[in-house]
Amino acid sequence: MAEETLQGKPVSPGIAIGPVFLYTHDEIDVPQDQIQASDVARELSVYAEACEKVGAEILEIIQRTERQNEADILNTHMLLLNDFEIAAQVRQGIENQRWNAAKAIDTAFREVADMMSAIDDPYLLQRAADIHDIRHKLLRQVLHIPAKDLSTASGILVSNELYPSDFKQFDRKRIAGVLTEQGESTSHAAIMARNLGIPVVFGVRDVTKKMRDGEIAVINGSRGEVILAPTPATEEKCRRLYSVYQKSEAVKRQYLFKNCATKDGQPITVEVNAGSLEADFEKDCKCSDGIGLFRTEFLYMESTALPDEETQFRAYRHVLQAFAGKPVIIRTLDIGADKQLPYLPLVKEENPALGNRAIRYCMANPELFRVQLRALLRASVYGNLWIMFPMISGVEDYHNVRDFCDTVRLELEACGIPLSNSIRYGIMIEIPSAAVMAEELAGIVDFASIGTNDLTQYTLAIDRVGRGVEPYYRPLHPALARLLHHISTAFSTQGKPLGVCGELAGSPEGALLLTSLGIRQLSMDSSKIAGVKYVLSQFEAGELDMIGAYLLKAENEQRIWAKLREELAAHNVISTDQDLQG
Ligand code: PEP
Ligand code: MG
Repeated sequence: MAEETLQGKPVSPGIAIGPVFLYTHDEIDVPQDQIQASDVARELSVYAEACEKVGAEILEIIQRTERQNEADILNTHMLLLNDFEIAAQVRQGIENQRWNAAKAIDTAFREVADMMSAIDDPYLLQRAADIHDIRHKLLRQVLHIPAKDLSTASGILVSNELYPSDFKQFDRKRIAGVLTEQGESTSHAAIMARNLGIPVVFGVRDVTKKMRDGEIAVINGSRGEVILAPTPATEEKCRRLYSVYQKSEAVKRQYLFKNCATKDGQPITVEVNAGSLEADFEKDCKCSDGIGLFRTEFLYMESTALPDEETQFRAYRHVLQAFAGKPVIIRTLDIGADKQLPYLPLVKEENPALGNRAIRYCMANPELFRVQLRALLRASVYGNLWIMFPMISGVEDYHNVRDFCDTVRLELEACGIPLSNSIRYGIMIEIPSAAVMAEELAGIVDFASIGTNDLTQYTLAIDRVGRGVEPYYRPLHPALARLLHHISTAFSTQGKPLGVCGELAGSPEGALLLTSLGIRQLSMDSSKIAGVKYVLSQFEAGELDMIGAYLLKAENEQRIWAKLREELAAHNVISTDQDLQG
């Protein structure tokens, strides 16, 4: 087989080289025959027995699990297994349609999973994968198909798809990396995969058909890149890169729990982005200065109906308590455009990214917004709550939303509900008009956080999820650097906290760019924290200013990129983000 390079989705960073262990989930052949009326009771008990066995199987894995976030995922599986509506559908299939138990299970679970995957949304795709995991387990029980054995797996595990529970079936010490054809980087399987601390790439097309057991493969989990059957020269190069990577990881790890500061001791606030209750908050709290962005969308996307006040209150209280007094920036619902709710169809729009999304949607649906604000305000007494509003376009938007919050607050106070007096209110700056109005906004808000993902989209008029236009999505474009500097100056002049919570903050180049433009607060995925702390500790504050001055004069993205790379290399920051072939 000739060497071949394939591209997938990066899930967990690192480089791995080793022989392939193939493991495929074959679709189970479900018998289609009808049953007699006299068989209904038997099939119902086959189903009940399968539920019991699968429940015991999941419980056994939960008991072996040390991590809280994994236990939470598996508890969700338990809830899905016992979901009242799905169970009713299975029973109806057996009783009314006269399907055998396997067909009734397959149909009911598939219908729910299909409904969720029909909406192009990572949260719902994640839920659909969980449902398929349970479906497979139940079908195996009912049809007496033994589960495939993963306990002997070693090297690079290559599969068509891995379900969350698969990650508890193999010996972590024998697996160097994981590669799959399907799967989303936000899925539960991805959370489990990241916990392993080994390189993982999902979404590599047809990889199980291209590889045979024992053949050598290389994975670069940081870039989502895979090399099949590398030539001896490529393999040698990858092994060198692997050793550089190992060294750089060891260096970075030393910074994880340190406070972030420049070489000459100027502090930089490093916070974590969170978007689910399954994160490892204990660790996140130890290695960060707080939560810089808590995306509340998942609460809405993962349920089958609008989450009520109590459910939301408990979720917000949980995260506030977990961060024990450190700031927790919770963003109000950012729904619309690419983020849809299955149970609440939004009006079809010509340009949804420019339409009724985020704060606009909330203000147009005051009852829904009121429920979220009540839950947030009630939770405020359990920690250090900062409430952030997405997609604010200017001063008027902010005044309107604050007025609405005050009404909700008065309502709660009138009922004698205790609320914190030190809640801070702020905005995301992700629309260019808000960036331009930064001075006025800095005068009225308590804080702001720049959403570079959307600010890039709207400034460059480029769809952030658009297919075929990716080369035009350029977060390092000089126009953005100048806008960022404008915002940074406005907020530092007024002495108001300003952070960045877009993806840019978590990359070495992005962190260097942002701090050199004067921003001293960065929020990122927790896996990026050690790397960013390490990078920034190599630069003196004066050097950052000089780099910033250069970048603000640059006329194109290439100059900015080249300068950032040059400075990183000059400060001995080891780059592992290399093309394995390059
Ligand atoms: C952003 O736009 O940069 C951001 C952090 O928000 P989201 O990615 O959730 O839109
Ligand atoms: Mg955004």
